[in-house]
Amino acid sequence: MNRKEFIKICGILGVSLPFHSAINACNDKATQKPLGTNDRVLIIGAGPAGMSAGYLLAQQGIDFQILEALPTYGGRIKHTRSFTDFPISLGGEWIHVANTILPEIINDSSVSITVPTQGYDLQNDPSGYFNGTSLELDTLGNHFGSDFADLKFVGSSWLDFFETYVLPDIQSKITYNIPITAIDYSTDDIVVTAQNGQTFTANKVIVAVPVKILQNGMINFTPNLPNNKQKAIRNINVWSGFKAFFKFRTKFYPAYLSFPNSATPRGQLQYYDAAYAQNTADNILGLFSTGQPAEVYQNLSGNAQRDYILNELDTVFGNNVASLNYIEHIVQNWNAEPYANGAYITAYEDSRQVRILGQSLDNKLFFAGDAYTTGNDWSSVHAAARSAKRAVEELVG
Ligand SMILES: Cc1cc2nc3c(=O)[nH]c(=O)nc-3n(C[C@H](O)[C@H](O)[C@H](O)COP(=O)(O)OP(=O)(O)OC[C@H]3O[C@@H](n4cnc5c(N)ncnc54)[C@H](O)[C@@H]3O)c2cc1C
Repeated sequence: MNRKEFIKICGILGVSLPFHSAINACNDKATQKPLGTNDRVLIIGAGPAGMSAGYLLAQQGIDFQILEALPTYGGRIKHTRSFTDFPISLGGEWIHVANTILPEIINDSSVSITVPTQGYDLQNDPSGYFNGTSLELDTLGNHFGSDFADLKFVGSSWLDFFETYVLPDIQSKITYNIPITAIDYSTDDIVVTAQNGQTFTANKVIVAVPVKILQNGMINFTPNLPNNKQKAIRNINVWSGFKAFFKFRTKFYPAYLSFPNSATPRGQLQYYDAAYAQNTADNILGLFSTGQPAEVYQNLSGNAQRDYILNELDTVFGNNVASLNYIEHIVQNWNAEPYANGAYITAYEDSRQVRILGQSLDNKLFFAGDAYTTGNDWSSVHAAARSAKRAVEELVG
């Protein structure tokens, strides 16, 4: 598959492969009992998957508690409002599927969702392609294919969406600063232990932490996870992740700037107009990179990192235009985040391994998140939310 085909299929910056039935991967539904009134559910992690799972349980009147390692919710969809006058998404930014995903996540037709989103103007928005010697300008439509579907939030973000529509129903159920280090599911009373020694009991647990956390052995399971699950966790490839946002005096760049290595099995690299569709006078250029391209930036720091990026842009656009117009920048290194440790699993994983990651265990342990899916789609906010829906449906029985 070449770069264009890859991008066309997977979206520019992530994976949005067709989603079929998220429900039919239930692996042990036949043996499940309906949830009783004394059942207690713990959710580990308050990212999009953990929040979605709690929200769906709340809709069904089922009690639960979310245990989050960090002092805040959001995980890899965190944003900052302090760099410019619209939220800058430091992780998940685009909607990789139709915006009907928003009501789908909310799962309540009485809720009216008023989140402005905007797609790209495929004919009129310029896209740049830099092959090392020259910048070729084109339209986005020609560059990425006319079915290019990613959407931007306007004056908003994925985090805002969850804050507005999901968080009010679950906020009181989240306990922060509780990194979980062990889950003992050897008896019907599952014991979950936090780093500070505090224990919690439940008879159902939804694990909604990034798979990299399991790969790095940050949570011990008793008994050990089954061999096929351990093998899938061990073998799955999680790309490194780095984003940067540069403020410039002028807008000298197109809506997207690609390179020959913009989307390969080694990773992804893209500069883009981060202020696209936003109501702002600021010129903000985003840098999105995963895998090996991300590691190039991660291996630098401070002024050397800034100058490397400015030099890369000066090489593409000429006349020192980036250096001369630079105002300020921010960076986000996802490998350095203590409860993410990376970006997301690559677009090239074996879907059967992803399916194993998503399988529940003994009607006690359930897995929700962007890596624990049915194997049809992964590594996105919508995949995380859909996987939470599947986990809750399995859990409720
Ligand atoms: C650079 C980058 C760009 C991206 N771009 C896009 C995009 O444009 N569109 C898109 O749809 N997706 C994008 N994604 C992917 C998207 O952000 C993720 O798919 C999504 O956030 C996954 O949600 P999750 O709930 O599974 O995991 P997370 O968002 O990682 O949430 C997991 C939560 O678990 C917590 N946690 C971890 N370990 C523990 C522990 N031991 N105990 C308790 N809590 C713990 C974490 O603190 C976190 O809050 C991007 C991601 C990155 C990194």
